[in-house]
Amino acid sequence: MYLLLKSVIISIVVTQVAILATTVYLHRALSHRALKLGKASTMAFRIILWVSTGIVPREWVAVHRKHHAYTDVSGDPHSPIVETFALIQFANVYLYRKAAKDPANLAKYAKDLPPDKWDKAFFNKPLLGLGIGIGLLLVLFGPMVALLVSIIHMASYLLLSAAVNAIGHTYGDRPYNNFATNNNWLALITWGEGLHNNHHAAPTSSKLSFKKSQIDPGWWAIRVLETIGQAKIRLRVPKLVAGALDVPLELESQ
Ligand SMILES: [Zn+2]
Ligand SMILES: [Zn+2]
Repeated sequence: MYLLLKSVIISIVVTQVAILATTVYLHRALSHRALKLGKASTMAFRIILWVSTGIVPREWVAVHRKHHAYTDVSGDPHSPIVETFALIQFANVYLYRKAAKDPANLAKYAKDLPPDKWDKAFFNKPLLGLGIGIGLLLVLFGPMVALLVSIIHMASYLLLSAAVNAIGHTYGDRPYNNFATNNNWLALITWGEGLHNNHHAAPTSSKLSFKKSQIDPGWWAIRVLETIGQAKIRLRVPKLVAGALDVPLELESQ
């Protein structure tokens, strides 16, 4: 029981750190250039993602930019409106891998992110990163906790990331004219990513909360990075995309 509790607590920490790196680095900084990170924080995020997720950043960026290019229409790599909610929530990783491994997507959506010397030596090797991550858990906590944390973290990271695409395009508020949704509860456990309707309305904003009542812990982290000279914010006021304030879209099935 003690080992299980310890494993759950460590898993929550590892997953939350991985999601923080995902939203601040992969999503807001790399995919949308909403902020520019300093060298130290960039390297820290790259290492965190490498050992905790095995994600290759330019693949994630390519899949995500394609999602913005074809949001909820044919061509979207992971739309619960085009596909089904269950497929995106529970099998997003397969759809992600299919889109991430398509050279045409990488050539079109991530041509500004060619592999550098660090990618060639380390970060392009997901299994090496994950192996180091599991090895660290083994050394620090022993084999049983390492095994449990690996399983719990993998499941929770995949489910929470998928929830942004599945729940975040199905349930919640739609103040702006897109099919994505805002959910404060989801934002609380995904460092702000749950404010997904806001994000589709203003993708270049590094702040995802647009009202006092909305929670974006990722923005708080960015402010800390800015204070220590590790982040430059592109826009102080969110810039809405054309049509964002039009009458909200209605789903045909609703
Ligand atoms: Zn979306
Ligand atoms: Zn985005």
